Amino acid sequence: MSLLFLFSCCPPEVVTFPQNVEQVSEIAILCNDNEIPLIPFGSGTGLEGGINAVKGGVCVDLTHMNEILSVNPEDFDCTVQSGVTRMQLNNYLRDTGLWFPIDPGADASLCGMCSTSASGTNAVRYGTMRENVLNLEVVLADGRVINTAGKGRRTKKTSAGYNLTNLFVGSEGTLGIITKASLKLFGIPEATVSAVCHFPDVQGAVDTTVQVLQCGIPIARIEFLDEVSIDAVNKYSKMDMKVAPSLFLEFTGTPSSLDEQAALVADLCSMNNGSDFKWAKDPEERSHLWKARHDILYACMALKPGSKPYSTDVCVPVSKLPEIIKRSKEEITKAGVCDSFMLGHVGDGNFHTLFLADPNNPEEVQIVKDVSNKIAEMSLEMNGTCTGEHGIGQGKRELLVQEIGETGIQVMKQIKQTLDPKGIMNPAKVFY
Ligand SMILES: Cc1cc2nc3c(=O)[nH]c(=O)nc-3n(C[C@H](O)[C@H](O)[C@H](O)COP(=O)(O)OP(=O)(O)OC[C@H]3O[C@@H](n4cnc5c(N)ncnc54)[C@H](O)[C@@H]3O)c2cc1C
Repeated sequence: MSLLFLFSCCPPEVVTFPQNVEQVSEIAILCNDNEIPLIPFGSGTGLEGGINAVKGGVCVDLTHMNEILSVNPEDFDCTVQSGVTRMQLNNYLRDTGLWFPIDPGADASLCGMCSTSASGTNAVRYGTMRENVLNLEVVLADGRVINTAGKGRRTKKTSAGYNLTNLFVGSEGTLGIITKASLKLFGIPEATVSAVCHFPDVQGAVDTTVQVLQCGIPIARIEFLDEVSIDAVNKYSKMDMKVAPSLFLEFTGTPSSLDEQAALVADLCSMNNGSDFKWAKDPEERSHLWKARHDILYACMALKPGSKPYSTDVCVPVSKLPEIIKRSKEEITKAGVCDSFMLGHVGDGNFHTLFLADPNNPEEVQIVKDVSNKIAEMSLEMNGTCTGEHGIGQGKRELLVQEIGETGIQVMKQIKQTLDPKGIMNPAKVFY
């Protein structure tokens, strides 16, 4: 399924399937010598057109490099090749009592997740990829191989020189090809409880979120869905939740700490006029609830057969969420867009507006583009970002200039020029 109705599909001229870092390096040398574009491919779940071969060239499909190289349970870390996906890793880890919690919903490759600085529903507790990568092996445009923290190193802290690791996290394949990642792992929590609560308005849901964070409650997930999204979820996942702005919550810890946390959050919800607070304690009920949340894209698409989705991805300081959601809804109504759904990783101030449009109707596509841009510009006005987790890709290059400023962009381009002087790495992404 292509999710990219905003970008026309540009296939590469050649697809390669390297088996190891030496082959990736050889491909890079060949492409660099001949000035041929090189486009890394993880698992193709990215949402901003990152794998589109806009200028043709060679796609480096990393799916065959799918070995889990080491797991160090006593150090809470592991090292994986680029094609390993997060579900593959978590299945492998199951017997160790450990897991890798960053969860973008899709079963993305872990190095693709490094490339877009992915996060998702667990970021409020565990952070994003930026906080969870210890070291990366990267093949540069000219074929040189570097280890961003030094070969074999996997410490939780370092003050040694520039932070090369986080230079490559979020670089979307424009600086090099990540062939190996060392990642932090965490203990699987002893007990988990989920809940849903419904509110008369967005403000009540956001106020509850802010108060939960202020009280220092170690919430594992706190997700917002507007009433239209709840309606779609009810229909698709055969549920009967109250059709209202809602919070999906998850608590983890010891059984006794859970009772305490959950009781406190239930009080906060009712103080903010939340109602129908409903627990999901048994694993099956919990997984049905979160599967329904993760299936939201498909739930919305089912309402308009033949449509394609596009998701905005702004992130604002949490206190600004009610204002941006209200103003976004106003913009959507003004533009006459009928199919839109709002949901968010509300604990981080990150929210998505999901639009459905007919890809063959240029007028409808243009309206979605315009409203999405408007929402991103409002986020920038509120000291937010145009992308909390999906990246810049093709569609947000102009917004990046507005967000970072001309001088910041110049510095980014100087870094790019140093690492990729011939401009072969994933051209026409991130910058023009
Ligand atoms: C249903 C659905 C829900 C999603 N929800 C979320 C969410 O909640 N949070 C979130 O963060 N994302 C979400 N995403 C987006 C997506 O899963 C992430 O962007 C993910 O990080 C992409 O990983 P990938 O392996 O599929 O990368 P790809 O799509 O293959 O590539 C993405 C970009 O990274 C580059 N790249 C890939 N692998 C490498 C590599 N090894 N080295 C260098 N560059 C590389 C590519 O060139 C491209 O620019 C969702 C996607 C879907 C389909």
